[in-house]
Amino acid sequence: MEDWFLLPKIELHAHLNGSIRNSTLLELAKQLGDEGVLVFADVEHVIMKNRMSMAECFKLFDLIHVVTTDHATVTRITKEVVEDFAAENTVYLELRTTPKKNESKGLSKRSYMEAVINGLRAIDTVDVYFTPASGSMEISITPPINDSCNGSTRRKIYVRLLLSIDRRETTAAAMETVQLALEMRDLGVVGLDLSGNPVVGEWETFLPALKFAREQGLPITLHCGEVPNQKEVQAMLDFLPQRIGHACCFEEEDWRKLKSSRIPVEICLTSNLKTETISSIDVHHFADLYNAKHPLVLCTDDTGVFSTSLSSEYCFAAASFGLDKGEIFQLGRDAIEYAFADEGVKKDLRKIFALAIKKLG
Ligand code: 5GP
Repeated sequence: MEDWFLLPKIELHAHLNGSIRNSTLLELAKQLGDEGVLVFADVEHVIMKNRMSMAECFKLFDLIHVVTTDHATVTRITKEVVEDFAAENTVYLELRTTPKKNESKGLSKRSYMEAVINGLRAIDTVDVYFTPASGSMEISITPPINDSCNGSTRRKIYVRLLLSIDRRETTAAAMETVQLALEMRDLGVVGLDLSGNPVVGEWETFLPALKFAREQGLPITLHCGEVPNQKEVQAMLDFLPQRIGHACCFEEEDWRKLKSSRIPVEICLTSNLKTETISSIDVHHFADLYNAKHPLVLCTDDTGVFSTSLSSEYCFAAASFGLDKGEIFQLGRDAIEYAFADEGVKKDLRKIFALAIKKLG
């Protein structure tokens, strides 16, 4: 595991609330239990469950949101999630979250996102570069990656944000999220995501907002093919998003379209297995796409909910598909090209990976 830990890594598919530490979730649930807002024993049981169906998974997300959706908690979990990714040598993190309204807690989509930004600002154990104005790592990449041998133990990480549209939302709510994303570009928002329970909502509901985002130059990633729905998969692929996540329930025609489009796929192995979207790692589409040299990136999805980490995903892919350290390193390096960050950040990341090759041998 140490080997995977040391590699510089790129994370392009991580949901903020799904990446909450179990310890934090339990602590917060306990507090609400003490206040009589929920029954802690019931919550503890759901949180600690190792495997869950897709439906159970979305029930857990609703529970997490009850526990986390206030300004102070959003700030806290943002800080912790970024620290956790940085601790395992993630050098670029694209963190996605659904801006949420909750009038009873004085929360608007904008103030929710401000709480996220406050979380990024609050980090003092790691050097975080999260806005175009927060500069570049380049000046401080000696040593190039986090290096305890040479006396530097400070982690450095680029963070960029994607705003998620939840499939439960209306066209107007989706449009509000796009507007917010456009307004927050200077604060590190680089794109949009469509996620949420895949059996809820219609593609046509989100299309106007996604088309508007595209016209405004915002890159888009879509959760695509998590359940069998060929009509939607085809419509999503025809839309030509910059990336898609999962791609589990594809038909022959979908694979053909995907491969000819060269749309990069965010692969979340543990998530796919734990939600039983894929029955076994032996039949996971990673192998076919990898062999076809299709653009891919290994991601975590929800480190907290699925008890995983990016290092574990690298280790799991290597063991399952017979890849060596160099091949896994190259996968991470290729992912730089699929990030939504600007060219300046990508240039820095390419340098970091080039220096890491020399260092790691
Ligand atoms: P948040 O957006 O609240 O920070 O992160 C949790 C949310 O991300 C969930 O409520 C859900 O909408 C979305 N999400 C997390 N994991 C998955 C996944 O595997 N599939 C889909 N479709 N959505 C997910």
